[in-house]
Amino acid sequence: MTNSESTETVFLQILWDWLRERQSLIRSPFFPVLFSLIIYLSCCFPYVCLDLLCSRLALVRRFKIQPQSQLTWATACGCLRKILRNHACFIFPLSVVHWYWKAVVSPPLAPDTLSVVRDVLACLLLFDTQYFLWHLLHHKVSWLYLVFHKEHHRYTATFSLTTEDTSVWEMLSLFFFTTLNPAILDCHPLTEMLFFITNIYLSVEAHSGYEFPWSTHRLVPFGLYGGAQHHDLHHLKFKVNYAPYFTHWDRLFGTLQGEHTDTEVKKHRL
Ligand SMILES: [Zn+2]
Ligand SMILES: [Zn+2]
Repeated sequence: MTNSESTETVFLQILWDWLRERQSLIRSPFFPVLFSLIIYLSCCFPYVCLDLLCSRLALVRRFKIQPQSQLTWATACGCLRKILRNHACFIFPLSVVHWYWKAVVSPPLAPDTLSVVRDVLACLLLFDTQYFLWHLLHHKVSWLYLVFHKEHHRYTATFSLTTEDTSVWEMLSLFFFTTLNPAILDCHPLTEMLFFITNIYLSVEAHSGYEFPWSTHRLVPFGLYGGAQHHDLHHLKFKVNYAPYFTHWDRLFGTLQGEHTDTEVKKHRL
């Protein structure tokens, strides 16, 4: 084991011990729904602030993928109301059922760094495949699109709060994929939490409507990762970029499109 690996593993152990000391909170049936809501709103918050500053600051507009689109308070409040309602009416009862059937286990040892990275990446690749197939099916079969997926396409320009602005069926499908993958791979509970946080962050980033020099797709080499530009194009053009994160499935199915063209953006401005 190298020095840096041992430092990271020690950090994971400190974090895991800290969480284990709060067993009563983690074992509470309220924990999953509160955790999901807090992580989601924390990931959205910086982007919502940028959206509200966008019309005043040219510096912020420089990074916006569709600078003509503007978030209003009314739209933001509508999205927030829907997110709170969905968490209270659907995610909470489901997480109580999950809590009742599957006891929370807390082994004394934290996972090592390598297994965390490997398992989180494997969960993301599985999620990417499952959502790609779900998404493709819900675009190809028109009644599935109209009944279950159209609700997520209300906006042709993305902003962070559109991430969970979906129909109940789509939200439950995503919730199912997210909880299924760590169970299939028998992940450590800490890895499961870290996957959950990474998954929410990447989904929000993909819907953020911003391209920064530090955006995930710029950090992953060889065009393997799509990111915000790709998903914004999906909302603009409907028939491209079905995978949420990586590009390999769209490349294989011939549905990958990389960049916005000025003409496309101008066409949607009219
Ligand atoms: Zn779609
Ligand atoms: Zn979307």
